[in-house]
Amino acid sequence: MDMKNNPFKNYLERMSEISSLLNLEKKYFEKLTTPDKIIKKNISIKSSSGQKKILAYRVQWNNARGPYKGGIRFHPEADLNEVKTLSALMALKCAAVGIPFGGAKGGAAFEPKKFSKKNIEEISRKWVREMYKHIGATKDIPAPDVYTNAEIMGYMLDEFERIKDKSEPAAFTGKPIILGGSLGRDSATAQGGVFVLEELIKKIWPNKRSGLKIVIQGFGNAGSQAAKLLSESGHKIIGVSDSRGGILSHTNLDLNKIEKIKNSGKPIKDLYCDGEKCDKNKLAKDQVELVSNEKLLEADCDILIPAALDNQINAKNANKIKAKIILELANGPTTTEADKILEKKKILVIPDILANAGGVTVSYFEWVQGLQNFYWAKEKVRSELKNIMVKSFDEIYQISKEKKLSLRKAAYLLAVERIVEAMKARGI
Ligand code: NAD
Repeated sequence: MDMKNNPFKNYLERMSEISSLLNLEKKYFEKLTTPDKIIKKNISIKSSSGQKKILAYRVQWNNARGPYKGGIRFHPEADLNEVKTLSALMALKCAAVGIPFGGAKGGAAFEPKKFSKKNIEEISRKWVREMYKHIGATKDIPAPDVYTNAEIMGYMLDEFERIKDKSEPAAFTGKPIILGGSLGRDSATAQGGVFVLEELIKKIWPNKRSGLKIVIQGFGNAGSQAAKLLSESGHKIIGVSDSRGGILSHTNLDLNKIEKIKNSGKPIKDLYCDGEKCDKNKLAKDQVELVSNEKLLEADCDILIPAALDNQINAKNANKIKAKIILELANGPTTTEADKILEKKKILVIPDILANAGGVTVSYFEWVQGLQNFYWAKEKVRSELKNIMVKSFDEIYQISKEKKLSLRKAAYLLAVERIVEAMKARGI
């Protein structure tokens, strides 16, 4: 892997900076940069193309503040640096918003598109058979991540409860509603991001509560829900994209049309193109321009929302960004080099560990509901989410003002302080 894009290197750089700001003893720095445990197992599966061996893995990063918590991804490249970083970010995220979890991440290394639905169910169940000793409602609570979903959490919970011979719905989150999933989980990440964005807007542009120009990279779960919520508040969604490219306008885009084309499984640009042939008249009539993902990030707008992949904002393009606020719905979309450039340009970045923490916060509500077997109305989920997101934003904004730090450094500082305090309280 290109060291420049090694996400763990970004994490280490950020942690060294925070450790010196906090004058952290070496033993804590070491604890914060080393996983507690890495579990690797092999799963054997008979598919249409013969017997296959699949690596199942789980990185348990830190549990000083509560049980390990983090997603499971099904992806052919189980890159340990990436998984380690994501598990560490989970620990920081839970600490930054004050929910009582540590951090973890895991998965199975295979290409889901090449396996049947039945095979995928079997892999999900076998993953649990290999890992059940390490997981549980008070130990380590998995959730969906890339290419896993509520259905897979349903199979995993079922397998887990069969092995344990008891009901334990709080052992997994992101489950189907019928098995104890929480209402409001679908839109939680975007809704949490919108709550913190609204708080920042109140601080810096008190008179501009609507009509701001917004560009969103990635139109999946997080990006599309954010577009919907922000447009409902009267903002203008002027640019969106998916892996095949984007569209940009000077006025509002028609979200209904975009949603429709995505739901039919086609790329956004197919609103105007049939393969390589694009309808110039239709583009001109709608005042829409086709753009690459790189160009989309550089668009003239007030708010940029990366909601797709990591390392999208880097040393190459940070100087060209025109937005005044970046809301990181994606995990790790900005490199450390880009951070420095954005800081110089006085662009405010709401960091991933705050911006997308709404997802794990509603997972926490799901866990609480599962432990109590008492389920909440959607409105309660929304208002409790708002309480946590607004309170966390206020705390982080305050630190950034008092200590003259970027919002990212302030969020890291608060999170690291909380994890270290918990480790000290345990006598580590
Ligand atoms: P998703 O799979 O639903 O959507 C991803 C979107 O990104 C798709 O529209 C896809 O077309 C697009 N995309 C893929 N490659 C791209 C590229 N090269 N350029 C532009 N767009 C590209 O995923 P999601 O759940 O919306 O997650 C998106 C990001 O948000 C990820 O970084 C994820 O880790 C983060 N996140 C999601 C949640 C959640 O609850 N969904 C929670 C926390 C963080």
